[in-house]
Amino acid sequence: MNAKRPLIAVLTGAGISTDSGIPDYRGPNGVWQRDPDAQRLVTIGPYRADPEIRRRAWLLRRDVGALLAEPNAGHRALVELERGGLPVRILTQNVDGLHQRAGFPVRKVLELHGTAREVECLRCHVRSGMAEALDRVAAGEPDPACAACGGVLKPATVMFGEALDPVVLEQAGAIAKACDLFLAIGTTLQVHPAAGLVDLALDGGARLIVMNAEPTPYDPVAAEVIREPIGTALPELVRRLVARG
Ligand code: ZN
Repeated sequence: MNAKRPLIAVLTGAGISTDSGIPDYRGPNGVWQRDPDAQRLVTIGPYRADPEIRRRAWLLRRDVGALLAEPNAGHRALVELERGGLPVRILTQNVDGLHQRAGFPVRKVLELHGTAREVECLRCHVRSGMAEALDRVAAGEPDPACAACGGVLKPATVMFGEALDPVVLEQAGAIAKACDLFLAIGTTLQVHPAAGLVDLALDGGARLIVMNAEPTPYDPVAAEVIREPIGTALPELVRRLVARG
């Protein structure tokens, strides 16, 4: 009754959220890479230094309306996988919080690039809701400051020029090393730390399944490569995995 069940690590990237209307901002062909001017809005140096950059960034966040996005069939399929009784951990490159909103247990999701659902003060590091900050923008504040200390607020995401959280990275590495099956969903596996996590999983002897519209550098070493749309292919894969147990 205590037989060890295989741990499944699921790395998710922008591809799982495109059906929810969230574009790929950060990937190799992402919005930020194609528009250097827009990239300044999400780069910590200019953002910290320039109120005009921040004003534009807040307007962009308001207009994009990412908080309104709803989870899709891909997010829901991973919830089913976890409810199927298999130990599952999600390592996500996304900042949209849609795995958790779909019902995946919060403590089993590691957000490698942080979360856009919260803001953080650059001075006192207190966190609060993005929704409240956007309400202040809507009410006419061009650059809402920290309610606690008056410092500059930024999304609780890893901006360009910022390091990833070493604690999160270490936890993700441990899960990758320990897993028996590594699913890479909707990620090109070209951006740090995704590729490193796949390497750790493969070194640990895990089986790799890649589900992505575009080829990835890891396709040749994957046990299975799935090119079909995530919204249909992921529920199908989950049914297979749950049936196998
Ligand atoms: Zn503060």
